[in-house]
Amino acid sequence: MLRVAKSATGRLAATYLGIIMLMSIGFSVMFYNTSSHQLGRQLPPDSYFNTSPDGLPGGFGSRRQNVNEFLQARIDEGRSALLIRLVWLNILALIGGGVVSYYLARRTLEPIEEAMDAQTRFVSDASHELRTPITALQATNEVALRKPKLSIAEAKDLLQYNVEEAVKLKLLSDGLLGLLKQEHDAPQTTTVSLQDIIGEAMNRVVQYAVKKGITINDEVPNVEVLGNKQTLAQVVTILLDNAVKYSHPKGTIYLEGNTKGKYAYLNVRDEGVGIKASDIPHIFERFYRADSSRSKENKEGYGLGLSIAHKIIEQHNGEISVQSTIEHGSTFILKLPLAPTARS
Ligand code: ADP
Repeated sequence: MLRVAKSATGRLAATYLGIIMLMSIGFSVMFYNTSSHQLGRQLPPDSYFNTSPDGLPGGFGSRRQNVNEFLQARIDEGRSALLIRLVWLNILALIGGGVVSYYLARRTLEPIEEAMDAQTRFVSDASHELRTPITALQATNEVALRKPKLSIAEAKDLLQYNVEEAVKLKLLSDGLLGLLKQEHDAPQTTTVSLQDIIGEAMNRVVQYAVKKGITINDEVPNVEVLGNKQTLAQVVTILLDNAVKYSHPKGTIYLEGNTKGKYAYLNVRDEGVGIKASDIPHIFERFYRADSSRSKENKEGYGLGLSIAHKIIEQHNGEISVQSTIEHGSTFILKLPLAPTARS
């Protein structure tokens, strides 16, 4: 990768330098030709020698050769001095142009390299995450195959395990696709009410919340924001899903909202396990999962939800932040631009 980047920089710099030198040499040749022609015109015409200063013909005739030789020598001297200066100018252009070309090539290629780096990191992170469940699946099935006999119950257990792992892999691939989609597609924005967004997200998590005996308290005023209903509902779903996942059974989740200036604020507050201060700066990173989430049971996930939410909110010119205390719960805060009609 580094070698490819270096050779690309080298080639682009060489192209820039080629253009600079072509212009510099072209300009020098033109300048030399014009100046040399002008110098050549310093030689007096023949008629000059046929006329004396007082206007009588033949006055300087005898000195004609000497004057001509003298002037020709001065002209040749001038030409070679000009040539030397132009050669030096081109040498300087070569050195200065080399430095400038390299700098310009680096600046041109930097954003492309960053995008390539991000892509490579994404592919390597994704492969790493995919490897773990696939390896577990392979190992479990190989052990079962090596057994001389497999009872119906054992076979059913194995199939059950395979289905669960397939579901997890689907979850992961959905997450990866979701992330890619957010990187490429900017959502269409319209005026959309916060309550509609919340309603959509609630429908998706209600069963999960009921299963854990969790109550969701919706106290959000019905304000209108500028956004895309589907993707914003996806963000609230991610936050609610996490709030349920990291809440203690029978807990309560609070949805609160207000407006300030040109923005609406939506808080998703839980009283669950909380997040360690050292984890907070990283939770919006792709694949990041706090250790506490990895180790506890029923805390499935791949650390993709919050990075997807972050991307979506960024595309809405909003902000997402979190306040959390370990063992006391977390509050995720969404800041979204109010619809023009809702601005006071
Ligand atoms: P996932 O939940 O799939 O692991 P996310 O990207 O949604 O991935 O979250 C990243 C990490 O942030 C989680 O692993 C968890 O450690 C932490 N986290 C997110 N939401 C909460 C929450 N409401 N309470 C406690 N921890 C949370």
